[in-house]
Amino acid sequence: MTTAEKTLFTVLRADAPPVPSLPPFGQFIGGQFVASTSTEKVDVVNPATEEVLTQVPAGTAEDVDAAVEAAVAARDAWAATTPRDRSAVLLRIADIIEANREAFETLEAANTGKPAAVAEDDISSAIDTFRFSAGAARAYSTLGSDDYAENHTSVIHREPVGVVGVITPWNYPLLMAAWKIAPVLGAGNTLVLKPSEQTPLTTLKLAELIADEVPAGVLNIVTGPGRVVGNRLSEHPRVDLVAITGSVGSGQKVAAAAAGSVKRVHLELGGKAPVVVFADADLEAAAKGVRSAGFWNGGQECGAACRVLVHESVADKFTGLLVKEISEITVGTPGAEDAEIGSMISKAHYERVLAALDDVRKDGHTIAVGGNAIEGPGYFIEPTVITNVPAQAPITSNEIFGPVVSVETFSTDEEAVERANETIYGLAASVWTKDSARSLTVPRKLDFGTVWVNSHLVIATEMPWGGFKGSGYGRDLSSYALDDFSRTKHVMYNRG
Ligand code: NAD
Repeated sequence: MTTAEKTLFTVLRADAPPVPSLPPFGQFIGGQFVASTSTEKVDVVNPATEEVLTQVPAGTAEDVDAAVEAAVAARDAWAATTPRDRSAVLLRIADIIEANREAFETLEAANTGKPAAVAEDDISSAIDTFRFSAGAARAYSTLGSDDYAENHTSVIHREPVGVVGVITPWNYPLLMAAWKIAPVLGAGNTLVLKPSEQTPLTTLKLAELIADEVPAGVLNIVTGPGRVVGNRLSEHPRVDLVAITGSVGSGQKVAAAAAGSVKRVHLELGGKAPVVVFADADLEAAAKGVRSAGFWNGGQECGAACRVLVHESVADKFTGLLVKEISEITVGTPGAEDAEIGSMISKAHYERVLAALDDVRKDGHTIAVGGNAIEGPGYFIEPTVITNVPAQAPITSNEIFGPVVSVETFSTDEEAVERANETIYGLAASVWTKDSARSLTVPRKLDFGTVWVNSHLVIATEMPWGGFKGSGYGRDLSSYALDDFSRTKHVMYNRG
C-alpha cells in the first residue's frame, strides 16, 4: 500500500438531519404493535457513526406463529375484496410514504449509512412500486372462458396463494419490502414479513403509519434473526408461499425448510454482474457506467456492475478511464451533500469486504486504486479497482458486495460470452458496443435475467427483475410479480 493510495480517499463528514421519531418497539401483529415473547434484543446501529440507534426484539418462533395466525384470520376477507378495493389501499400506502418521505429517507440513511441521494431514490422507487401494483392489480385478468371439450366450458380463475411469508435483506430495506408487499397484497394475499435484523426501522415505521389503512392481520411484521424467525416462516405449515431476497446460502436454507410443507418458494438471491466492454464501445460512457452502477449503494447491490470483461485491444485505455472515474468518487456520511458512496452496512460486512481484499492481494492481482479501509468512526472502505485478473480467479465469481470492481480481458466475442456466463449467478449483465449486430446477438446468449445494452442498473417498475441459476427464481416488479403471488384454478362446466 503506498502513501498516495492511503490518502486518496477520506470520509466527508457532516451532520445528518436528526433521526425522526423511531417506530414503536415490538412486533406488528393483527394491526397493532405487541410485545415479543422474547426479552432478548438486537442492537440497531448507524454504520456511518457506529452509534446504537435503538434495539428491536429478537423475535421467536412463537411470535411468528401469532403473526401467521393473524394472517390466516384476515386471509379470506382480504381475498374477497375486489382489485379496486385493494388498489385503493395500495394507493393510500403510496401517499402515506410520500407524505412522510423525509422521515423515511432520514431513517433509512441512518440505519444503512447510505448517502441522501440513494435514500431518496429508494423511497421514490418504493412509492412507485405501490402505485404500479395498484394499477397492475386492476388490469390483471386471465384468459376469457371458452370450450375446449365438447359441451364443456372452461373458466380460469386467478386466486391469491393465501398467506405469504416474506424475508428481506439490509441493502434496500424499505424498497425490498415494497417490492414484495405491493404485489403480494395486490394479488389478494395476506403476509408476514421479517425484515433484516440489521435494518428493521423503515419497515416498522411503515407498519406504524399504515396501521389504520390496512385491515388488521393483512400485513404483519416480525423482527428477529433469520435462523429463528426466517426459518419458522419458511417451515410454517400454514404459510403457503415464502419469498426471500438475500444471499444464496439463506435462499438454500429457506427452500430446504419450505420443502417439508411443499410450499411455493420465491428466491431473489445474489449476483455478480459482468460488464462486457467490446472494442467498438464508447469507452468513456462505459467507464462512467461502471462508476455509477458498480458503486451505487457502495456496491452493496445485487445487480452491481462489479466484474468488467474488456476487449484486450482497449483494456489499457478503458482501465485508465475507469481508474480516473473511481479516483474521483466522494465517500461520505449521509449528511454530506456530495457523498457518492457511504459506509458498509455493518462491522461484520466491512470485515468481510476487507478479508476479500486481502485475498485479492494474496492472489497477486493489482489494486489499481483503493483497496483499504478508511479511518473511522464508521465502516468505510475505499472505492477499489482490481486489474490483472486472470480467467477463473476467485474474484470473478465471488460476490463481494462492496465498492470493488475487477477488470479482466478477453480476445473474441465467443470467449466474452463464455467467460461472462462462467458464474453460479444469473441475475444481471451489461454489454457495451456500438455494433448493432453485436447488441442483438450477445444479450441473447447471456444467461442472466436482465441484460442492459450500453447501460447498467436502470430499473423500471413495469419490467420484471429476477435471476437465473444461483440467483434464484421468481420475479419482482412488473405484472410477473402478481403472477408469482397468485395461483390459477381451472373450473369446467358441463353444459350437456
Ligand atoms: P442474508 O442472506 O444474510 O439475509 C437476508 C435475509 O434472510 C435476512 O432477513 C436474514 O435474517 C434472513 N435469513 C438469514 N438466514 C436465514 C435462514 N436460515 N432462514 C430464513 N431466513 C434467513 O442477505 P443480506 O446480507 O441481508 O443481503 C445481501 C444479499 O442479498 C446479497 O447476496 C445480495 O445479492 C442479495 N440481494 C438480492 C437481491 C435481488 O433482487 N436478487 C436484492 C437485494 C439483495
